[in-house]
Formats: sequence, structure tokens, C-alpha cells
Amino acid sequence: MTAYYEQARDNDLFLTTAILDPQIDRSAGLDNERIAERFLHVVKETSDGIVVRGAKMIATGAPYTHDFIIFSFLQFQTEHRHHAHILIVPANAQGLHIVCRESFAEVTEPNHILGSRYEEMDAVLFFDDVFIPWERVLLYGDTEKVLTLRANKTANALAFHQTVVRYVAKLEFVTGVAFAVAEAIGVTGYLHIQEKLGELLTQVDTMKALVIASETMACPDESGVWGPELSYIDTARNVGTRFYPRAIEILQQVGGGGFVQTPSGMGDFYGSISKLMHLYFEGASVSAEKKVQLFKLAWDLIGSPLGARHELYERFYAGDPVRAYASQYTRADKTAFTEPVWKLLKEASKHGAKRI
Ligand SMILES: Cc1cc2nc3c(=O)[nH]c(=O)nc-3n(C[C@H](O)[C@H](O)[C@H](O)COP(=O)(O)OP(=O)(O)OC[C@H]3O[C@@H](n4cnc5c(N)ncnc54)[C@H](O)[C@@H]3O)c2cc1C
Repeated sequence: MTAYYEQARDNDLFLTTAILDPQIDRSAGLDNERIAERFLHVVKETSDGIVVRGAKMIATGAPYTHDFIIFSFLQFQTEHRHHAHILIVPANAQGLHIVCRESFAEVTEPNHILGSRYEEMDAVLFFDDVFIPWERVLLYGDTEKVLTLRANKTANALAFHQTVVRYVAKLEFVTGVAFAVAEAIGVTGYLHIQEKLGELLTQVDTMKALVIASETMACPDESGVWGPELSYIDTARNVGTRFYPRAIEILQQVGGGGFVQTPSGMGDFYGSISKLMHLYFEGASVSAEKKVQLFKLAWDLIGSPLGARHELYERFYAGDPVRAYASQYTRADKTAFTEPVWKLLKEASKHGAKRI
């Protein structure tokens, strides 16, 4: 692990992860043969390494990554040791197929300010008997150890801190676009618009406060590595899965039909009906040209394939949000909350007894 870490650091390698198993039948597990043979597993061990077969989803940035970090997400039983592993797989490994979705990159810049810049490809990986040398096999065969490493507090706190910083940046951006749209069409004076724009500010502040809290409460782990406090990061990731789709919903409510009124391309703006375009596309506080540009940007955020992908990403990038919320409860120290309640009831019943 140390050798690979140093190699990745010194060579500035680009890495992505593929953690989830193929979405075949989520009601079936490894006891089902159809599932077991499709989930990534070791089919051969040699003195030089292992050979793996199966599929993994989803690897964002797959076509331009150097290496994939592959590990099993589920908690496996010991008898499923062939499915338990943490691997580093070079993107050009023989037998590895990278199956990409349709590209959402839009080359027409004026229409798609975001789509022309920020597309990140997502892919499914097929491992058709891929050989992995032992030095790239970080863990294999020990289901407990794989789970312990995956759940490592420091690794998760450091990895997910940046995702929360990303939430702040993205929520600030959606807020900025929503404010500009509201100003452009003169609706900032309406109470319900103010309420919605205010909600966006509470999202930004909540996310920022959680980043600050995680950093303020940072402490070293048993090996002396400092990491932000994971509980605030977990909370931020969970609320983020609901904040971002809500922020996009608010933007839709603020702009109404304006998003689909924009002409295709900015060139048309100067055509034979330029005078009319300037007349009818003018905004409350901006020129027609600026307003069209702004609404195209907003549409790229809420209505384009790239925008829809981002909304899906924010719902799911950190795993299933339903189980992530539930695990906050299951992992919590419940007694810290219930003890005061039992204490109050005990005292109340003592006083009650005295009164009688
Ligand atoms: C745009 C995008 C990019 C991504 N990029 C990456 C990446 O780079 N690397 C990576 O590793 N992953 C990536 N992911 C994958 C992400 O980790 C998964 O999408 C996420 O963990 C949810 O898993 P799933 O998609 O298999 O959904 P499923 O687990 O199949 O869930 C589908 C639905 O069924 C429900 N469900 C399924 N099983 C259960 C169960 N046992 N109990 C209760 N409810 C259940 C879920 O709640 C959900 O509503 C990406 C996802 C997206 C959308």
C-alpha cells in the first residue's frame, strides 16, 4: 500500500474507484450462483498474482484514469472469500473492458456553457479474466479485513471531506444562478420567491458550517494522522443528497417557463429579427442578450443531460442515501439521547409519588 501510495503521489496519477456490483437483481446475494459469478471474484491464484472475473459499476472518469481502485462494498460472509478484495487495476490491463455511457459533452459553447466544459464520463467495467500482480493486490480473501479497511475512519474522513467542500461550491453556484434569474425577470419582491432564495442560503450555510465543524473538531487517529471529524462529514453527505435536488427544484420554480424560451444558439440573436429579439427578450434588470445567456446556463444546470446526471450523482455518489441515513442511526450512541429522557421520567415519577 505504501509503495503504491508513493508511486501515485510522485507520478501524479489519476485514479478513480469502482465499488458497486452490477445492478442485476438487488434482492439476491452471493448465495445465488447467477449473482456470485457476475460479481467480481478471483478465479485463479498463481505465484505471481490473481485472475479476476466479473463486473463493477460505476467508474466516473474511467476512460482517462491511470488506475482503478476496486473493492467490495458489501459485508461478505467468510465463505465468500473469493469475492473479498481491494485491488489496484491499471486501465490498460488485458481483458479489462470499459463500457462508457453516451457522452453528455456539448461542443456548442454558447448553448452549453457547462456541458462544453465539465462532462465527466461514467462507465461500467467488465473483467474478462484480468491478471493482477500481487503488488497490486492490497487485500484479498479476508472478508473482515476488507470491511475494516473500507470502513477506516481516517480514510473516509479525508476522502469525503473534499466531497463536502464540493457541495458548498455547487450549492453556492446554484444559489448564484437562482438569484440572477430572479433579478433578471423581476420576481425578487415576491414573498414565496424570497422564501425559496432564503432556503438556498440556509443550505449553503448549513454545508459550510458542517465543513467548519469537521475541521474544528479534527484530531489525530491512533497512527497520528489528522483527519476531520467524520460524523459532521457523514451528516453533510447525507443532507447533501437532499439539498442538491431541492436546490435544482427551487431554480425551476423561480425561472418558470423562461428556461425553454431561449432561442437556439446566440448567433440567431443578431439575425434579421435582432430588433425584435432585443425587444421581447429583455429582462427587468439585464439586456436581452445577457438574459438569454443566463437562462441557457441555468438550463444546462437543470435540464440538460449533464444537469440531470449531476442531480443523479448528488443523490447517489456516496452510496444509497436511504441506507446511509439509516446507518447514521444504527451507528449512533443512542444512550446519549435516551438517558436524559429516562432520567427525566424517573425524577418526574419521584415527584409524583411525593405529591400523592
Ligand atoms: C452519476 C454517478 C456517478 C457515480 N460514480 C461512481 C464512481 O466513480 N465510483 C463508484 O464506486 N461509484 C460511483 N457511483 C455509484 C454509486 O456509488 C451507486 O450508484 C450508489 O452506491 C447506489 O448504488 P446503485 O446505483 O447500485 O443503486 P441500488 O443499490 O441498485 O439501489 C436502487 C434502489 O433500490 C434500493 N435498494 C437496493 N438494495 C437495497 C437494500 N438492500 N435495502 C434497501 N434498499 C435497497 C435503493 O434504496 C434505491 O432506491 C456513481 C453513481 C452515479 C449515479
